[in-house]
Amino acid sequence: MTIFYKFGGKMYVNITNGCPCDCVFCIRKNGDSIEDNDSLWLEREPSFEEICAAFDKFDKAGISEAVFCGYGEPTVRVETLIKTAEYIKDNSDMNVRVNTNGLVRLVHKDFDIMRFKGVVDSFSISLNAPNAKRYNEVTRPRFGEPAFDEMLSFSREVKDMGIETSFTVVDIITAEETAECEKIAAGMGIPLRVRAYVTDNESYT
Ligand code: SF4
Repeated sequence: MTIFYKFGGKMYVNITNGCPCDCVFCIRKNGDSIEDNDSLWLEREPSFEEICAAFDKFDKAGISEAVFCGYGEPTVRVETLIKTAEYIKDNSDMNVRVNTNGLVRLVHKDFDIMRFKGVVDSFSISLNAPNAKRYNEVTRPRFGEPAFDEMLSFSREVKDMGIETSFTVVDIITAEETAECEKIAAGMGIPLRVRAYVTDNESYT
């Protein structure tokens, strides 16, 4: 099972293949790994103990950032994510970034996002679309159109907590839609990055 892997000089953390969305651009539709890494489809979800053991063995030389990204949505296992991030911080000098769809509170109704404070250094959040209807078409969350507003609320709140926050869109939407996304992001004071739809490691969350 590939729990940790290197990509672009960072250490990626793959703790789940679960996801409440079915994005039209999800890289998981195109293959089972990134570059020359082993398959990112997990045989089963690794326990916290297995994750720690894999981290201890992983060659971390020269790596300054851990990115929870996975072949799935990392906040599906938010308790394991938090424990793992704490373990990484306690046992290395790495910063922790989480690539997420921002829907953790729809998956885990009682989750308090304040728990990310001091554990997550930055969030990269998939904005994906300029409105709820297009978001629903592009991201296809199992929660339907209300997911869009929750993603925006999550983004606003984690930014206000002082966590570095950025948005991404994938260039499968139109130029006009991208411009609308840029306006939304600018209005929230959150930088937006437009990513090409390729087999880019970050195109799946
Ligand atoms: S891109 Fe991310 S949020 Fe979308 S289906 Fe894939 S894993 Fe889920």
